[in-house]
Amino acid sequence: MCTATSLPIMAAMNTYTPTQRTKVRRLSKRAVYDKAQVHAILDEGFLCHVGFTQDSHPFVIPTLYARSGETLYMHGSGASRMLKTLAQGVDVCLTVTLVDGYVLARSAFHHSMNYRSVTVLGRARLVTELAEKMEALRIITDHVVPGRWDEVRGPNELEMKQTVVLALPLEEVAAKVRMGPPADDEEDYALPIWAGVVPIHTQLGDPVGDGRVLPDVKMVERSRFALRTGKDSKRD
Ligand SMILES: Cc1cc2nc3c(=O)[nH]c(=O)nc-3n(C[C@H](O)[C@H](O)[C@H](O)COP(=O)(O)OP(=O)(O)OC[C@H]3O[C@@H](n4cnc5c(N)ncnc54)[C@H](O)[C@@H]3O)c2cc1C
Repeated sequence: MCTATSLPIMAAMNTYTPTQRTKVRRLSKRAVYDKAQVHAILDEGFLCHVGFTQDSHPFVIPTLYARSGETLYMHGSGASRMLKTLAQGVDVCLTVTLVDGYVLARSAFHHSMNYRSVTVLGRARLVTELAEKMEALRIITDHVVPGRWDEVRGPNELEMKQTVVLALPLEEVAAKVRMGPPADDEEDYALPIWAGVVPIHTQLGDPVGDGRVLPDVKMVERSRFALRTGKDSKRD
Protein backbone atom coordinates (compact mmCIF):
# COMPACT_ATOMS: atom_id res chain seq x y z
CA MET A 1 0.00 0.00 0.00
CA CYS A 2 1.29 3.52 -0.86
CA THR A 3 1.50 5.97 2.01
CA ALA A 4 1.86 9.73 1.71
CA THR A 5 5.55 9.45 2.62
CA SER A 6 6.29 6.55 0.26
CA LEU A 7 4.92 8.41 -2.79
CA PRO A 8 7.84 10.86 -3.15
CA ILE A 9 10.29 7.97 -2.72
CA MET A 10 8.53 5.98 -5.46
CA ALA A 11 8.50 9.05 -7.71
CA ALA A 12 12.25 9.46 -7.17
CA MET A 13 12.80 5.82 -8.11
CA ASN A 14 10.86 6.27 -11.34
CA THR A 15 12.56 9.48 -12.43
CA TYR A 16 16.08 10.80 -12.90
CA THR A 17 16.81 13.68 -10.57
CA PRO A 18 17.68 16.81 -12.59
CA THR A 19 21.04 18.30 -11.63
CA GLN A 20 22.44 21.75 -12.35
CA ARG A 21 23.84 20.23 -15.54
CA THR A 22 20.77 18.29 -16.69
CA LYS A 23 17.98 20.71 -15.78
CA VAL A 24 16.37 21.66 -19.11
CA ARG A 25 16.11 25.47 -19.15
CA ARG A 26 15.00 26.30 -22.71
CA LEU A 27 11.35 25.19 -23.23
CA SER A 28 11.46 23.20 -20.01
CA LYS A 29 7.91 21.89 -20.62
CA ARG A 30 9.56 19.52 -23.08
CA ALA A 31 11.85 18.07 -20.41
CA VAL A 32 11.40 14.41 -19.50
CA TYR A 33 13.06 12.72 -16.54
CA ASP A 34 10.69 9.76 -16.34
CA LYS A 35 12.79 6.61 -16.51
CA ALA A 36 10.30 4.60 -18.57
CA GLN A 37 10.16 7.32 -21.24
CA VAL A 38 13.95 7.74 -21.25
CA HIS A 39 14.40 3.97 -21.57
CA ALA A 40 11.92 3.83 -24.46
CA ILE A 41 13.92 6.46 -26.39
CA LEU A 42 17.21 4.71 -25.67
CA ASP A 43 15.78 1.34 -26.71
CA GLU A 44 14.36 2.69 -29.96
CA GLY A 45 17.70 4.25 -30.94
CA PHE A 46 20.95 2.40 -31.44
CA LEU A 47 23.35 5.16 -32.49
CA CYS A 48 24.68 7.70 -30.01
CA HIS A 49 27.19 10.53 -30.20
CA VAL A 50 29.80 10.50 -27.48
CA GLY A 51 31.43 13.80 -26.50
CA PHE A 52 34.65 13.93 -24.52
CA THR A 53 37.82 15.99 -24.35
CA GLN A 54 41.31 14.74 -24.98
CA ASP A 55 44.28 17.08 -24.44
CA SER A 56 41.78 19.94 -23.94
CA HIS A 57 40.23 19.31 -27.34
CA PRO A 58 36.57 18.31 -27.72
CA PHE A 59 35.58 15.32 -29.86
CA VAL A 60 32.11 13.99 -30.65
CA ILE A 61 32.16 10.48 -32.09
CA PRO A 62 29.22 8.37 -33.34
CA THR A 63 29.00 4.83 -31.99
CA LEU A 64 26.55 2.02 -31.24
CA TYR A 65 25.14 1.41 -27.77
CA ALA A 66 22.62 -0.76 -25.97
CA ARG A 67 20.90 -0.50 -22.60
CA SER A 68 20.68 -3.02 -19.82
CA GLY A 69 18.70 -1.71 -16.86
CA GLU A 70 20.43 1.48 -15.75
CA THR A 71 23.61 0.88 -17.80
CA LEU A 72 24.53 1.76 -21.37
CA TYR A 73 27.13 -0.44 -23.01
CA MET A 74 29.47 0.57 -25.85
CA HIS A 75 32.08 -1.53 -27.56
CA GLY A 76 34.83 -1.38 -30.14
CA SER A 77 38.42 -2.04 -30.97
CA GLY A 78 41.01 -1.84 -28.20
CA ALA A 79 42.91 0.45 -30.57
CA SER A 80 40.12 3.05 -30.61
CA ARG A 81 41.22 6.42 -29.29
CA MET A 82 37.65 7.12 -28.17
CA LEU A 83 37.34 3.92 -26.15
CA LYS A 84 40.86 4.19 -24.68
CA THR A 85 40.14 7.76 -23.57
CA LEU A 86 36.75 6.88 -22.10
CA ALA A 87 38.24 3.89 -20.27
CA GLN A 88 40.40 6.34 -18.29
CA GLY A 89 37.21 7.62 -16.64
CA VAL A 90 37.07 11.05 -18.30
CA ASP A 91 33.83 13.07 -18.27
CA VAL A 92 31.48 11.97 -21.05
CA CYS A 93 28.35 13.42 -22.64
CA LEU A 94 26.40 10.82 -24.63
CA THR A 95 23.49 11.94 -26.80
CA VAL A 96 20.79 9.92 -28.59
CA THR A 97 18.44 11.68 -31.02
CA LEU A 98 15.33 10.35 -32.74
CA VAL A 99 13.77 12.67 -35.32
CA ASP A 100 10.01 12.21 -35.78
CA GLY A 101 8.90 14.99 -38.09
CA TYR A 102 9.39 18.35 -39.78
CA VAL A 103 7.12 20.94 -38.18
CA LEU A 104 6.08 23.55 -40.74
CA ALA A 105 4.54 26.73 -39.37
CA ARG A 106 3.05 29.75 -41.11
CA SER A 107 5.93 31.91 -39.94
CA ALA A 108 9.62 31.10 -40.41
CA PHE A 109 10.11 31.69 -36.70
CA HIS A 110 7.76 28.92 -35.50
CA HIS A 111 9.18 26.15 -37.69
CA SER A 112 10.44 23.28 -35.59
CA MET A 113 11.16 19.54 -35.46
CA ASN A 114 9.37 16.78 -33.62
CA TYR A 115 12.01 14.79 -31.80
CA ARG A 116 12.90 12.68 -28.80
CA SER A 117 16.43 13.00 -27.46
CA VAL A 118 18.40 11.97 -24.41
CA THR A 119 21.66 13.21 -22.92
CA VAL A 120 23.60 11.19 -20.39
CA LEU A 121 26.46 12.70 -18.39
CA GLY A 122 28.95 10.68 -16.41
CA ARG A 123 32.05 8.56 -16.54
CA ALA A 124 32.32 5.18 -18.22
CA ARG A 125 33.74 2.08 -16.59
CA LEU A 126 35.94 -0.42 -18.42
CA VAL A 127 34.22 -3.81 -18.28
CA THR A 128 36.88 -6.37 -17.32
CA GLU A 129 34.82 -9.25 -15.95
CA LEU A 130 34.47 -11.81 -18.74
CA ALA A 131 30.83 -12.77 -18.11
CA GLU A 132 29.67 -9.13 -18.04
CA LYS A 133 31.73 -8.35 -21.16
CA MET A 134 30.22 -11.27 -23.08
CA GLU A 135 26.72 -10.36 -21.93
CA ALA A 136 27.27 -6.73 -22.98
CA LEU A 137 28.34 -7.86 -26.46
CA ARG A 138 25.23 -10.03 -26.68
CA ILE A 139 23.04 -7.11 -25.64
CA ILE A 140 24.63 -4.75 -28.18
CA THR A 141 24.38 -7.34 -30.98
CA ASP A 142 20.76 -8.22 -30.22
CA HIS A 143 19.82 -4.58 -29.78
CA VAL A 144 20.91 -3.79 -33.34
CA VAL A 145 19.59 -7.04 -34.89
CA PRO A 146 17.25 -8.86 -32.50
CA GLY A 147 18.10 -12.56 -32.17
CA ARG A 148 21.41 -12.25 -34.04
CA TRP A 149 23.63 -13.42 -31.16
CA ASP A 150 22.12 -16.91 -31.11
CA GLU A 151 22.62 -17.51 -34.83
CA VAL A 152 26.22 -16.30 -35.31
CA ARG A 153 29.61 -17.67 -34.20
CA GLY A 154 30.37 -16.08 -30.87
CA PRO A 155 33.65 -14.21 -30.21
CA ASN A 156 36.73 -16.36 -29.53
CA GLU A 157 39.39 -15.59 -26.90
CA LEU A 158 41.52 -13.45 -29.22
CA GLU A 159 38.49 -11.48 -30.45
CA MET A 160 37.44 -10.88 -26.85
CA LYS A 161 40.92 -9.56 -26.05
CA GLN A 162 40.80 -7.22 -29.03
CA THR A 163 37.40 -5.85 -28.02
CA VAL A 164 36.87 -3.16 -25.43
CA VAL A 165 33.52 -2.82 -23.64
CA LEU A 166 32.55 0.23 -21.61
CA ALA A 167 29.63 0.70 -19.23
CA LEU A 168 28.08 4.11 -18.64
CA PRO A 169 25.64 4.36 -15.71
CA LEU A 170 22.30 6.09 -16.27
CA GLU A 171 22.48 8.50 -13.35
CA GLU A 172 22.63 12.07 -14.63
CA VAL A 173 20.10 11.90 -17.43
CA ALA A 174 17.69 14.24 -19.20
CA ALA A 175 15.38 13.79 -22.16
CA LYS A 176 13.61 16.39 -24.26
CA VAL A 177 10.58 15.61 -26.39
CA ARG A 178 8.64 17.71 -28.90
CA MET A 179 5.43 16.36 -30.38
CA GLY A 180 2.43 17.73 -32.21
CA PRO A 181 1.59 20.51 -34.65
CA PRO A 182 3.23 23.92 -34.99
CA ALA A 183 2.20 26.70 -32.63
CA ASP A 184 1.65 29.76 -34.80
CA ASP A 185 0.92 33.29 -33.61
CA GLU A 186 -2.89 33.73 -33.60
CA GLU A 187 -2.94 36.37 -36.36
CA ASP A 188 -0.88 34.12 -38.69
CA TYR A 189 -3.69 31.50 -38.91
CA ALA A 190 -5.37 33.87 -41.39
CA LEU A 191 -2.45 33.49 -43.81
CA PRO A 192 -2.93 31.21 -46.87
CA ILE A 193 0.11 29.06 -46.02
CA TRP A 194 0.17 25.27 -45.46
CA ALA A 195 1.21 24.32 -41.98
CA GLY A 196 1.45 21.00 -40.16
CA VAL A 197 3.79 18.06 -39.62
CA VAL A 198 5.61 15.94 -42.19
CA PRO A 199 6.43 12.69 -40.33
CA ILE A 200 9.87 11.13 -40.75
CA HIS A 201 10.10 7.32 -40.83
CA THR A 202 13.21 5.18 -41.14
CA GLN A 203 12.73 2.67 -43.94
CA LEU A 204 14.62 -0.58 -44.43
CA GLY A 205 15.62 -1.73 -47.90
CA ASP A 206 15.63 -5.33 -49.17
CA PRO A 207 18.52 -7.37 -47.68
CA VAL A 208 21.43 -7.89 -50.13
CA GLY A 209 23.48 -11.07 -49.62
CA ASP A 210 27.27 -10.83 -49.76
CA GLY A 211 27.49 -13.34 -52.62
CA ARG A 212 28.99 -16.12 -50.47
CA VAL A 213 25.91 -17.24 -48.55
CA LEU A 214 25.66 -21.04 -48.65
CA PRO A 215 22.74 -22.60 -50.50
CA ASP A 216 19.56 -23.17 -48.49
CA VAL A 217 20.47 -20.53 -45.91
CA LYS A 218 17.43 -18.40 -45.26
CA MET A 219 17.67 -14.65 -45.88
CA VAL A 220 17.42 -12.41 -42.83
CA GLU A 221 13.88 -11.13 -42.38
CA ARG A 222 13.34 -7.39 -42.34
CA SER A 223 10.57 -7.76 -39.78
CA ARG A 224 13.18 -8.64 -37.16
CA PHE A 225 14.60 -5.12 -37.27
CA ALA A 226 11.16 -3.62 -36.70
CA LEU A 227 11.00 -5.36 -33.31
CA ARG A 228 13.51 -2.82 -31.99
CA THR A 229 11.25 0.08 -32.86
CA GLY A 230 8.48 -1.14 -30.55
CA LYS A 231 7.46 1.47 -28.03
CA ASP A 232 7.82 -0.87 -25.07
CA SER A 233 11.00 -0.98 -23.01
CA LYS A 234 12.41 -4.44 -23.27
CA ARG A 235 15.12 -4.52 -20.66
CA ASP A 236 13.85 -2.99 -17.44
C1 LIG B 1 26.75 4.35 -37.36
C2 LIG B 1 28.11 4.17 -36.75
C3 LIG B 1 28.30 3.17 -35.81
C4 LIG B 1 29.55 2.99 -35.24
N1 LIG B 1 29.69 2.05 -34.26
C5 LIG B 1 30.87 1.89 -33.64
C6 LIG B 1 31.02 0.99 -32.54
O1 LIG B 1 30.07 0.33 -32.09
N2 LIG B 1 32.25 0.86 -31.99
C7 LIG B 1 33.32 1.59 -32.44
O2 LIG B 1 34.42 1.44 -31.87
N3 LIG B 1 33.22 2.45 -33.46
C8 LIG B 1 32.02 2.63 -34.06
N4 LIG B 1 31.89 3.52 -35.11
C9 LIG B 1 33.10 4.19 -35.58
C10 LIG B 1 33.42 5.37 -34.67
O3 LIG B 1 32.67 6.49 -35.09
C11 LIG B 1 34.91 5.76 -34.70
O4 LIG B 1 35.33 5.95 -36.04
C12 LIG B 1 35.79 4.67 -34.09
O5 LIG B 1 35.30 4.29 -32.81
C13 LIG B 1 37.21 5.16 -33.92
O6 LIG B 1 37.19 6.24 -33.01
P1 LIG B 1 38.57 6.94 -32.67
O7 LIG B 1 38.29 8.05 -31.69
O8 LIG B 1 39.58 5.93 -32.25
O9 LIG B 1 38.96 7.50 -34.09
P2 LIG B 1 40.30 8.17 -34.54
O10 LIG B 1 40.70 7.46 -35.78
O11 LIG B 1 41.29 8.33 -33.45
O12 LIG B 1 39.71 9.61 -34.91
C14 LIG B 1 40.53 10.58 -35.45
C15 LIG B 1 39.66 11.58 -36.14
O13 LIG B 1 39.04 10.95 -37.24
C16 LIG B 1 37.72 11.48 -37.43
N5 LIG B 1 36.73 10.42 -37.23
C17 LIG B 1 36.79 9.32 -36.45
N6 LIG B 1 35.64 8.62 -36.55
C18 LIG B 1 34.84 9.31 -37.37
C19 LIG B 1 33.53 9.10 -37.86
N7 LIG B 1 32.78 8.05 -37.50
N8 LIG B 1 33.03 10.00 -38.72
C20 LIG B 1 33.75 11.10 -39.09
N9 LIG B 1 34.99 11.34 -38.65
C21 LIG B 1 35.52 10.46 -37.82
C22 LIG B 1 37.55 12.56 -36.40
O14 LIG B 1 37.98 13.80 -36.92
C23 LIG B 1 38.50 12.11 -35.31
O15 LIG B 1 38.86 13.14 -34.45
C24 LIG B 1 30.65 3.78 -35.65
C25 LIG B 1 30.45 4.78 -36.60
C26 LIG B 1 29.20 4.99 -37.13
C27 LIG B 1 29.00 6.13 -38.10
